[in-house]
Amino acid sequence: MRIIARSAAKTQSNWHEILANSIRSGQQLLQQLQLSNHPELASQAAENDFPVLVPRPWLELMKPADPLDPLLLQVLPQAAETLSQPGYVSDPLGEIATNVQPGIIHKYQGRLLLIAATGCAVNCRYCFRRHFDYADNRLSRQQWQQSLDYVRNNPEISEVILSGGDPLMLKDVHLAELVSAIEAIPHVKRLRIHSRLPVVIPARITESLTAMLASSRLDCVLVLHINHPQEISAELQGGVTLLKQHGITLLNQSVLLKGINDQADILVGLSEKLFQIGILPYYLHLLDKVAGAQHFDMPLQQAQALYQQLHARLPGYLLPRLAQEESGMTGKTLIPLEANQGNDSF
Ligand code: SF4
Repeated sequence: MRIIARSAAKTQSNWHEILANSIRSGQQLLQQLQLSNHPELASQAAENDFPVLVPRPWLELMKPADPLDPLLLQVLPQAAETLSQPGYVSDPLGEIATNVQPGIIHKYQGRLLLIAATGCAVNCRYCFRRHFDYADNRLSRQQWQQSLDYVRNNPEISEVILSGGDPLMLKDVHLAELVSAIEAIPHVKRLRIHSRLPVVIPARITESLTAMLASSRLDCVLVLHINHPQEISAELQGGVTLLKQHGITLLNQSVLLKGINDQADILVGLSEKLFQIGILPYYLHLLDKVAGAQHFDMPLQQAQALYQQLHARLPGYLLPRLAQEESGMTGKTLIPLEANQGNDSF
């Protein structure tokens, strides 16, 4: 079964086709991983609340017959998601209050999020936007004008962050149209794209995407979302090399997830592998306390103890900043080391 799936993924070069051929149910996921004799691992109730979506190139990076595989656990709908727990809410970052108009989240000074697409290529079970009201933020290309007007009318905005969903869900031609409209706003200097798509479908890094970003007058930063070294494939490395050759700045943010990347060896390995392929570690986020994701959360003290180990083992340029995004704050909260506060890594 796995061999068939592997060859199917390899013969498809078009990322749209690969996406269309994704896994869309927990039981299908278990079957593909030779775990169909454990149907109880996938919860239909959790899946009803937040659908399953797993592209096959990412499935191919999972270990067959391993129910604890760190990639599988990020996408498998589990019964624990259906248990409510105080403190875990539908809008953990207070985005409703900063969703100043459809398609725009304006929270921080000098930069804003423009919701360019409302879907993703993978549904991560811990997603802080798993309950986000995408219906109210789904703009047609004609309606982008409203978002662009907002940017135009706020001259302090020097950076536009394309977010979603995943902004790379846009076809290259539509993305180019949007980027060109942003370029026409003189006070915007930088374009940041937050995306997980190239990680789960490396074929998304197309020549046309790369060329478009490289030719922009804006300084372009692509922030990828990789949580575990096992997510870094040879195909992703090839795409990253192409982006680097075209001068695109590449950063990574991870989410600290219990049972997935909560070991120093894993996070040290991730930073080293990222650097090896040309990506700098940027943030290690504490879990956003979104309802349904409480089983991924780590107590703050444990997170700090883990971070101390990273601090001791990694040079400063490979140490992501441990941070938390909190509702109502005007920036991310950087989490200090439990002890030795203020020491730098060298
Ligand atoms: S790719 Fe990002 S926005 Fe999409 S489900 Fe995963 S964490 Fe959420």
